[in-house]
Amino acid sequence: MQLLLADQLGPHFELEEKLLLPIVDSQFSKRNYHRQKAHLIRYAQLARAKASNVETVRLESYRDLKDFPQLTSMVSGSSRSFDALSDLLKLTKLENPGFCSGKQDWNAYLAKAGKRLRLEDFYRLQRHRLDILMDSKEPVGGKWNFDEENRLPPPKPGLGLPSPYRPIEDELDNQVRAELDALEKNGKATFIGLDGPRIFPGDRVQALAALNDFITNRLDLFGPYEDAMDNRDWTMAHSMLSVPMNLGLLSPLEVVNAAVDAYKSGSARLASVEGFVRQIIGWRDYVWQLYWHFDQDYQNLNELGATAEIPAGWQDLTAKGIDANCLSSTLKDINERAWTHHIPRLMVLGNTALQRGFDPKAVNDWFIDAFADGTPWVMPANVIGMSLYADGGKMSTKPYTSGGAYINKMSNYCGSCKFKPTVRVGEDACPFTAGYWNFLSKNSERLKSNHRMSQPMAGLRRLTDLEQLLNQEQSRESL
Ligand SMILES: Cc1cc2nc3c(=O)[nH]c(=O)nc-3n(C[C@H](O)[C@H](O)[C@H](O)COP(=O)(O)OP(=O)(O)OC[C@H]3O[C@@H](n4cnc5c(N)ncnc54)[C@H](O)[C@@H]3O)c2cc1C
Ligand code: SF4
Repeated sequence: MQLLLADQLGPHFELEEKLLLPIVDSQFSKRNYHRQKAHLIRYAQLARAKASNVETVRLESYRDLKDFPQLTSMVSGSSRSFDALSDLLKLTKLENPGFCSGKQDWNAYLAKAGKRLRLEDFYRLQRHRLDILMDSKEPVGGKWNFDEENRLPPPKPGLGLPSPYRPIEDELDNQVRAELDALEKNGKATFIGLDGPRIFPGDRVQALAALNDFITNRLDLFGPYEDAMDNRDWTMAHSMLSVPMNLGLLSPLEVVNAAVDAYKSGSARLASVEGFVRQIIGWRDYVWQLYWHFDQDYQNLNELGATAEIPAGWQDLTAKGIDANCLSSTLKDINERAWTHHIPRLMVLGNTALQRGFDPKAVNDWFIDAFADGTPWVMPANVIGMSLYADGGKMSTKPYTSGGAYINKMSNYCGSCKFKPTVRVGEDACPFTAGYWNFLSKNSERLKSNHRMSQPMAGLRRLTDLEQLLNQEQSRESL
């Protein structure tokens, strides 16, 4: 019998005829998940349980599965808890089909890459191997990426796209609400975030509708506005498909094929389709493979010795006490929907956490809990590596940080902020601009030998008001 875990709910995970779906009360007891994330997981499980070949069992804990005969299971995206479960149940383990590459493909990549791991090399190999957007051995359009056509700031009048797909709530949503209320009342769970209407697909039919909506209405503008942030438009042209993909409701290859078909039929431009394909067969798979490639200790790395606590307004998502408009708007978005797109995650949240020296492991866990698509496998590379440079450069060659100028260029947050992105010292000083120089100064010993940091470090040496700036940031009480 095959065990169906909560990230394996779509047809491509169905290997055996008989499936066992455990619904476990302790699932939400160990961490303070966003209410909408818990709702979505429970909804998706209950929806999957309706199929006739699925036997559903209600359990207190996963340990109770030991009373079942020999089970088979696909590897799940949380190595620690999966290993523990696997040891306990003596599971027959199978490779996870929720990605576009397997262990063998990763090993083939490693054999070529040696010690120098680079997304770009992995991505090109994936394009060749899967024969996606290839013209014989050359990339379609003659280039591997179209970055110079992408990365535009938000257009002044807005993107003008229709609202994204939203499922219509049904009886099952009411049942889930009642179950989660009961867990909370009995002290078995504590949630963060608002219990909003469900905005993400929770079954296969809804997931396909969300995919179709993205391909039809948003994909064409995905590339140009990939990096733009607009406080009037929380999705921009992003797909929001990480959520159904991470639940296993959509297979990444079917998502990629739908995007490639849109290019072939002329309904989406190449720059957008290539950019989108890169995110999935490139980034998503790369991050998944790195999770298994780096050992468990990777998640505890803290190269920059960052130990600051995550402020309360982050922990509970209320943004209380936070004046920086970009940051408070992002936290409010997460409070309302358990989701923001990639750039607020990296350039607002990750950037703040890096500049202010938040403890990397705590940031890693906060992202897992607060986001509807948050899973253990996705965080180490994105948070510990890319956002916080806590791995000392295994993932990226330099820390990913910027001052307010970047946020000002790529968003419309700054106009209504009490700070000014161009000011680094004084009442109006933008916490990102001041935070940028403060970060470089505090870490100058560690960063001075990194040749990719030589320009910013030279800029730091030219600052005439550095001492004043450092004193200001040292006594900063809130952002
Ligand atoms: C600090 C931080 C935290 C993140 N947390 C998560 C998370 O909890 N879950 C998650 O799935 N992704 C996470 N990402 C990656 C990325 O931000 C999200 O996948 C993306 O924002 C989801 O929205 P979307 O589906 O609209 O993506 P789109 O912009 O439409 O991109 C398409 C797909 O590409 C994949 N993708 C793109 N970038 C990445 C990446 N860096 N890593 C993995 N997959 C990627 C996703 O599956 C996504 O659905 C995080 C990135 C950062 C920097
Ligand atoms: S001025 Fe600074 S803090 Fe305010 S929105 Fe712009 S970048 Fe954010």
